Amino acid sequence: MAKTDIAIACRCGEFGAVLKDASPKTGSHVQCYCKDCQAGAKVVGAEDTLMPRGGTDIFQTLPAGIEITKGAEKLAAFRLSPRGLIRWYAGCCSTPVFNTLGNTKLSFVGLFVNTMQGEDVGKSIGKVIAVNSVDGARPGPEKLKEYGFNKAGFNIVARHFGALLRGDAKKGPFFDDAGQPVVEPRVLSKEERKAATP
Ligand SMILES: [Zn+2]
Ligand SMILES: [Zn+2]
Repeated sequence: MAKTDIAIACRCGEFGAVLKDASPKTGSHVQCYCKDCQAGAKVVGAEDTLMPRGGTDIFQTLPAGIEITKGAEKLAAFRLSPRGLIRWYAGCCSTPVFNTLGNTKLSFVGLFVNTMQGEDVGKSIGKVIAVNSVDGARPGPEKLKEYGFNKAGFNIVARHFGALLRGDAKKGPFFDDAGQPVVEPRVLSKEERKAATP
């Protein structure tokens, strides 16, 4: 076993998963300060999982590399709007764990870095290659630098085509064979979304 598998766990430990073959080549380490991500944390009462300025630390990778190992029935999901990202969380303790698109057309998952276990996580996911939406950050002593948006986007598309070639673009624990999400995400009302948005 030369490849690095990383355990994923919610805060209470009832939900667990594994990310296979984690490396800076299999995914991109990015941080997002957009208000939607902050709202997403607030909706499930998990604002304490955000970075100090409200950022979300994410490893963007392929869903085929993720396998749920424990507590699959705890997996819950919501969307901030009918067409928004599906935000998956562990319902046992309201830990945000994954973001995906609403369908399998693009093979993509954003995995929350603070659910990744072990001391080697930093090495496995590599340095932050993109920081997005710093305008949404909470005020702080210095201005955050925004960078890498195109690079991260390019990597997403490149990984998707790699997955298509391997035939595993639609694999992963989030959608069934018909392409439907395994858990029907709750769609927030406009009022709920507004109330959660900083
Ligand atoms: Zn839990
Ligand atoms: Zn965001």
